[in-house]
Amino acid sequence: MNRYLQSKERLQEARAYVAGGVASSLRASMKPTPLYVQKAYGARIQDVDQHEYIDYMLAYGPLILGHAHPAFNEQVYEAMQKGSTYGLQHEGEIRLGRRLTEILPCAEQVAFSGSGTEAVMLSLRLARAYTGKTKTVRFYGHYHGWSDAIFTSFPSPDFSSPGAVEATEDITPGTGGQSLNSLQDLILLPWNDPEALEETLTRYQHEISAVITEPVMCNSGCIAPKPGYMEKMRELTTRLGIVLIWDEVITGFRLGLGGAHERFGIQPDLVTIGKAMAGGIPLSAVAGKRDVMRLIEEGTVMHLGTLNGNSLATAAGLAVIHELSKANGQAFKDMEHTSTMLTEGIRSILKVNGLQAVVNQLGPVFHLMFIDKTEVSDFNTFNLRDTQLYTRFAEEMLHEGILVRPNGLWYVSTAHGEKEVQETLLAVERVAERIA
Ligand code: PLP
Repeated sequence: MNRYLQSKERLQEARAYVAGGVASSLRASMKPTPLYVQKAYGARIQDVDQHEYIDYMLAYGPLILGHAHPAFNEQVYEAMQKGSTYGLQHEGEIRLGRRLTEILPCAEQVAFSGSGTEAVMLSLRLARAYTGKTKTVRFYGHYHGWSDAIFTSFPSPDFSSPGAVEATEDITPGTGGQSLNSLQDLILLPWNDPEALEETLTRYQHEISAVITEPVMCNSGCIAPKPGYMEKMRELTTRLGIVLIWDEVITGFRLGLGGAHERFGIQPDLVTIGKAMAGGIPLSAVAGKRDVMRLIEEGTVMHLGTLNGNSLATAAGLAVIHELSKANGQAFKDMEHTSTMLTEGIRSILKVNGLQAVVNQLGPVFHLMFIDKTEVSDFNTFNLRDTQLYTRFAEEMLHEGILVRPNGLWYVSTAHGEKEVQETLLAVERVAERIA
């Protein structure tokens, strides 16, 4: 009997027509096979082999309301009845733009796009045009999409080998075929290291246009910034005339409606948002200070995209905001509670079974890693984790009806509750016994 037979057969079929068999390279890494989905509802997803899973992958983050949320779907259907995209302006853009400027502390204006990658691309261009400088500082372990200007090799078992790539000086491109010239404008620094930041920004201040950072290093261990680090980054960038970009593609609409910058009480110049913002419909945005955003209105920086701000996406964004705003943002407290029940339960089960692990949690997102340490607060330590053991854990969890990412990052939605937590912890117990 092969539990995943239908999925395996579909993958073979897909390979004839779809390059690589999957629609995003990352998805190929799933063990024992990339799953094919029949349908999904709430916190659950069903594959073509008729197995049901509690979903903690949540499409890599967007599904903050879970799958097929009824009120969300209704709003999106309603918009669709009036046409899904016009290539013209409509009320939804104004309404969503206004709501975003109300919700996001740093936002005076917004510019819509379709993916996180595009929003990051625009934010980097704005920073270059605003400062008249070209270099971008980014950090090891962060991920900002896959455009030539920012993608670097990403040491994660999530990514299948990108093939032979040439190094430019110290920076390894993220993929074959990437422009090596664009990497010349990158400076890669260790994150959470205030001295390295100060030294580099001071030395290259006349060349650096932007510092771009994930406010929490969600893509590598869900590591929070050290006390004072982000304040220092803000102070240095302001003083040295460098645009500070917080990439909130994961943290936006997840750590709170106003994202990490509201939670931490720091105002970056620009933020990029995507993923959870439209609950699974493609939508992203750059938001920030009018002084920088005005470059779009002036025509200095082009902002293009056939489907930008389409009415389906803006309706989805407004529906997400509506749901998450209810009862003073109770949804965030509930998600945090669910997430905490999970992380506390997982920690204690793994401990009882003699499995050494660290779980870093921030609200409704956490990273579980098997590692012989008591804490993981930097990228080098994160890289010491036992990725093979986690891959095995994830595969065993799948057999138990729990869908988690092969790299260790778990997402929780408003659809997850006590029932899901209990089922999940029972599965963790069985799996821990098997792999210990
Ligand atoms: N920025 C961050 C922090 C991300 O995690 C991602 C995707 O995972 C992106 C940007 C790119 O977003 P997208 O996959 O929508 O292009």
